[in-house]
Amino acid sequence: MKKMAGILAGKKFLVMGVANKRSIAWGCAEQIKAQGGEVVYSYQNDRLEKRLLKLGLAEEEMVECDVASDESIDAAFDQVKEKFGQIDGLVHAVAFAPKNELEGSILNSSREGYLTAQNISSYSLIAVAKAAQEKELLAPKASIVTLTFIGSERAISNYNTMGIAKAALESSVRYLARDLGKTGSRVNAISAGAMKTLAVTGIGGHKDLLEQSRSLTVDGVNVSLEEVGNCCAFLLSDLSTGLTGDIIYVDKGVHLS
Ligand code: NAD
Repeated sequence: MKKMAGILAGKKFLVMGVANKRSIAWGCAEQIKAQGGEVVYSYQNDRLEKRLLKLGLAEEEMVECDVASDESIDAAFDQVKEKFGQIDGLVHAVAFAPKNELEGSILNSSREGYLTAQNISSYSLIAVAKAAQEKELLAPKASIVTLTFIGSERAISNYNTMGIAKAALESSVRYLARDLGKTGSRVNAISAGAMKTLAVTGIGGHKDLLEQSRSLTVDGVNVSLEEVGNCCAFLLSDLSTGLTGDIIYVDKGVHLS
């Protein structure tokens, strides 16, 4: 059989967080495949499974994984290992905060909403890294990529609790990079420019957020899913073995302003 060329040829990856074709996870999966990599997808629950089936994915290519539950992560990773053996890395493109955490003042944040955002959007990266290591799911020189946003370091309107969760996520990237590095794995984050996805429509005044982000790009054009996906493919590949614990901006220069 003819071998597929590309920087990810012969490698397999778990992509977590596809909800539809606008999802950043979908953009990453498309570019992984374009670079010759193989993808297994994880979805949150039955509702999301139906969406993936509608996208044309087959049941054999996916596993259920609710990152709020250690049992669900365990079961999912057992299935991934059974189906694929070891994987060369994973893409964590998962986040959630209750809607009332994503509007107005941070002073409206509740303890429960704050902890939910931290749990799903930040701790989940540690939880999946831990399970992957314990189950020896990661192949030598594996690479983990997560998605963050500049609201971690600036007080962006309405982003509030999620910004704080992203700051914790970015810090988790550095600690995980240190500790997983001992077994040869790398961990990095992409800080993507704003793009209209399902998650973004949950943020109060998201149209303004998208427009403001676009206006701050160097050329007035928002970053595309393909551009974020290409950077993800690079971070998963052996071309980036010198990078770990880093936050890479893929936002067309929004972070310069
Ligand atoms: P999206 O809505 O397409 O994806 C979010 C995914 O998170 C969904 O698939 C959802 O099912 C999943 N999810 C939520 N709770 C979960 C749980 N308990 N278990 C498993 N999965 C769960 O939106 P997106 O914008 O593609 O988001 C992907 C990542 O990119 C998020 O971390 C988001 O914060 C980040 N990000 C988005 C933007 C943007 O502008 N869209 C910019 C920078 C970073």
